[in-house]
Amino acid sequence: MSVTYWAQYAWLPHANGPVVEQDVLIGTGAGGKIAKVTPDSGPCPPGAVRLEGLLVPGQANAHSHAFHRALRGHVQVGSGTFWTWRDTMYRFAGALDPDSYLALATAVYAEMALAGITAVGEFHYLHHAPGGARYNDANAMGEALIEAAGRAGIRITLLDTCYLSSGFGAEPTKPQRRFSDGDADAWAARVCELKPREHARIGAAIHSVRAVPADQLGTVAHWAAMRKAPLHVHLSEQTAENDACLTAHGVTPTRLLADHGALGPRTSAVHATHLTDEDVKLLTDSSTTICMCPTTERDLADGIGPARRLASAGCPITLGSDSHAVIDPFEEARALELDERLRTRTRGHWTANALLRAGTVDGHASLGWPEAGRIEAGSLADFTVLALDSVRTAGPAFRLGAEIAVFAASAADVRHVVVGGRQVVRDGVHQLVSDVPAALRDSIAALNA
Ligand SMILES: [Zn+2]
Repeated sequence: MSVTYWAQYAWLPHANGPVVEQDVLIGTGAGGKIAKVTPDSGPCPPGAVRLEGLLVPGQANAHSHAFHRALRGHVQVGSGTFWTWRDTMYRFAGALDPDSYLALATAVYAEMALAGITAVGEFHYLHHAPGGARYNDANAMGEALIEAAGRAGIRITLLDTCYLSSGFGAEPTKPQRRFSDGDADAWAARVCELKPREHARIGAAIHSVRAVPADQLGTVAHWAAMRKAPLHVHLSEQTAENDACLTAHGVTPTRLLADHGALGPRTSAVHATHLTDEDVKLLTDSSTTICMCPTTERDLADGIGPARRLASAGCPITLGSDSHAVIDPFEEARALELDERLRTRTRGHWTANALLRAGTVDGHASLGWPEAGRIEAGSLADFTVLALDSVRTAGPAFRLGAEIAVFAASAADVRHVVVGGRQVVRDGVHQLVSDVPAALRDSIAALNA
């Protein structure tokens, strides 16, 4: 199927950095890819699909736990800590089975599509039945997530997560038993049964140095290396993790990962909030990607990680909505800059172009979709169109499109979304999931019943 789209404005790559062009024709064709991009093409020709607004590459949500969406609101009552938040999270995790997770994740991924997200990295550790019993298909929960992304019309990288311990070798607690495969070899044997699809790729994750004993880290890293697959890991989100790692091993979590071959250009360290100077050097020397999740890090009072310092030293930066306190890739992007402004009391750490890059080309690369995230011939035809005539975005000249997208727009401004050449969102309406709010309401209510 080949569809030609006409974008009123589009953020396009250029030798001197991205620019916003107008009257851009985008031909799509075989393999859901972009065949041709023609700026300044004049008015929308007959037969082309007219897309009013600013076209940007589809957004990559590099870090998601789909079921955390069910916590929205519940975890905003009172105060608590990261660790009391986690207790609430475990309650919801305990209520899910493959059918209810399919329903919930379909709704969550549809919400993502409506927010302009075309690919999600699902950091998936809810593997088994409550108590740890295996489902008939040991990958039933992961398959539900892959199916959910297909139903919602977005791409997924299932980052199947090794989670074995409640902390540095201790047995999993009762709610954690369904996360554990017993050991890393059993984890690898199960994950080998997962097959990629046109919309789905398989990656690996180490939940954290807390949850995977040091002598098992290498098995997960090796599995990913053999397949050239993405490897993601939660890193130093909380100082308590650093303290416990120093007590158990005498080194920081970053050093422990480095010593077991878990850092490198295919690795994404998620959060990387509390780092030593040596940690920063290990991450930059290994070209590890850093996935920042600013709205979650705010929500959980984690702190502000040294993203600017890591980026300046060469680490690619990506963005994730993680716990889904909100799902808005433009809010994640601006938060990176605005948090840094509050910390330093200076402005201008990231350009709007750099922040869009984090959410697009670098985000996709970190999820194993290097052919996505750019509006150019040969790339996957995944794009998002933002309204430039809403109360938030009207006014500035179109040349300021990147600045408008990052510093003024919100998920509510997403008007159209195209994935693999197919329109998934049209005029703000999801084309595959008929009533996304109802799907969210009903799937979350089922967990509370
Ligand atoms: Zn996470």
